[in-house]
Amino acid sequence: MRLSQYILPTLKEDPSDAVVLSHRLMIRAGLIRKESAGMYIYLPLGWRALRKIIGIVRGEMDKAGALEFLMPELTSSDLWRESGRWDAMGPEMFRIRDRNGIEYALAPTHEEAFTGVMRNLISSYRDLPKNVYQINTKFRDEIRPRFGVIRSKEFIMKDAYSFDMDEKGLEYSYQVMRKTYRRIFERCGLDTIPVEADTGAMGGRDSEEFMVASEVGEEVLLLCGSCGYRANREKAGYKRKDTKSGEKLKGLAEVVTPDVKTIDDLVKFFKCAAERLLKSIIYVADGRPVMAVVTGDRGINEQKLARAAGASSLELAPETVVEEVTGAPVGFAGPVTKKDIRILYDLSVKNVVNGITGANKKDLHFEGVNPGRDFSIKEEADISFAEEGDACPQCGSAMSSKKGIEVGHIFKLEYKYTRSMNVTVLSEEGVAVTPIMGTYGIGINRTMAAIVEQHNDEKGIVWPRSVAPFEVHLVRLGKGEMEIRDTDAIYDMLLKEGFEVLYDDRTASPGYKFADADLIGLPIRVTIGKHYFRNGEVEVKQRKETQVHKIEKDGLIDLITALLSVS
Ligand code: ATP
Ligand code: MG
Repeated sequence: MRLSQYILPTLKEDPSDAVVLSHRLMIRAGLIRKESAGMYIYLPLGWRALRKIIGIVRGEMDKAGALEFLMPELTSSDLWRESGRWDAMGPEMFRIRDRNGIEYALAPTHEEAFTGVMRNLISSYRDLPKNVYQINTKFRDEIRPRFGVIRSKEFIMKDAYSFDMDEKGLEYSYQVMRKTYRRIFERCGLDTIPVEADTGAMGGRDSEEFMVASEVGEEVLLLCGSCGYRANREKAGYKRKDTKSGEKLKGLAEVVTPDVKTIDDLVKFFKCAAERLLKSIIYVADGRPVMAVVTGDRGINEQKLARAAGASSLELAPETVVEEVTGAPVGFAGPVTKKDIRILYDLSVKNVVNGITGANKKDLHFEGVNPGRDFSIKEEADISFAEEGDACPQCGSAMSSKKGIEVGHIFKLEYKYTRSMNVTVLSEEGVAVTPIMGTYGIGINRTMAAIVEQHNDEKGIVWPRSVAPFEVHLVRLGKGEMEIRDTDAIYDMLLKEGFEVLYDDRTASPGYKFADADLIGLPIRVTIGKHYFRNGEVEVKQRKETQVHKIEKDGLIDLITALLSVS
């Protein structure tokens, strides 16, 4: 492709509204343009890179035996009502009506749509297992679209759904996808960390997310260097440290604390560490009040709490309920109480010595609170977020933490959709059996941004060859008629060899051309400049190396081939 005929609006300056590096570089390198908040246009160069990623994903999915579909983006509300998600999806789902008033969703995901079509395509054990997928647009009305294409309202996802006869079959399908994902990301040049994830609203059990470690990641990962335990913050467990400080136990005493309510207020007031505080929060779980107690330095993980409480719905209690169950306004609750309320204690509570907590009276706290003496721990569970330094739930070693971008997600849906949508097939014995499902997603655009986050330097993007929009950036420096003719001939030669070449045949200064080449980051730069016209030497440089190879035209193809194989 000749640059003189291309559309490549590179920018010298960073766009003012781009806060993360990949977003800045993708705009500056002329890959994408913002259409409006959370919506992006892929310009020709960006679309080429995206298509490379799609090609890798498609190739690996096909190799894994998955079958590609193309599903409508409009999904009928009937399907969503069958699964119960028409209401559950909430405002993240775009909903529209046709001229006859029939309601649709612009698909945020396709579990219902695929379950709906597979219901009619499979009827016996002979039709299973099947893994069906598509590479298609998803629409999500994200509360906060941000970071460019990392979180947008419209994006391309590869989504796959496996259907098996039994759990053993699902386990096999899941493992095949797990391996396929590793291979896909590896081929894209991405280092990913698979972590255990919560199954959340989707239902189901095993779930893993593929994370790309990055400072701009919105996810927090907890990692154990000793045993290899890896989980995201929603899911990560931790072990109780079974050591107590040797402090002498004080007596329980009331302290007047006018208007001192928050953890920050209390830390200042008592001049103590937050871990001495017993934060006590009232929730309503399946309609009944529950008090959750954790140390003040920890956050309550509501998913863990709901699970520990065995509740399918959980929310913070309104003020009136707090007053009713504690007898005090919000901010003064605590576990030292005679009231009959269910209390769930986090693992962090048991070894607190001389703690501080609300006295269930307005403007009063207790100090010298000691578990076992002042209240007994009847229900203990891990209900807080694991933090860096916490003991690994498997081996007890201290865990580290990292931020990550989630690029892919695999999980076992089990029977959530096949049951609610009445899918059955006949077994070998002629009995109706409900198939079991798995679901597997990869965000294509987010993967592209993650690649740019991982592969860049101060001059611009450094594409891995597998996903680079072109392989070779041919730069012509000469302007004379003969120089143009000779460089054109080299361009033709490279094309004939099958290389993907972007040919900078524009009339511009060498500095300008090199800056653009570095910014867009194609793996190999071939320069036809004064050396060529003086002594027949072509200059070849890998984007990721500083070394410049000088070689005669005859050796050019071999050198490019060799350098590309390590790019
Ligand atoms: P997140 O927690 O980041 O919102 P999710 O859990 O909602 O992601 P899934 O429903 O599992 O995501 O979707 C599969 C993949 O689609 C994700 O791993 C991610 O790569 C991609 N993805 C999800 N939401 C977006 C978005 N708004 N913009 C771009 N890619 C997205
Ligand atoms: Mg989401």
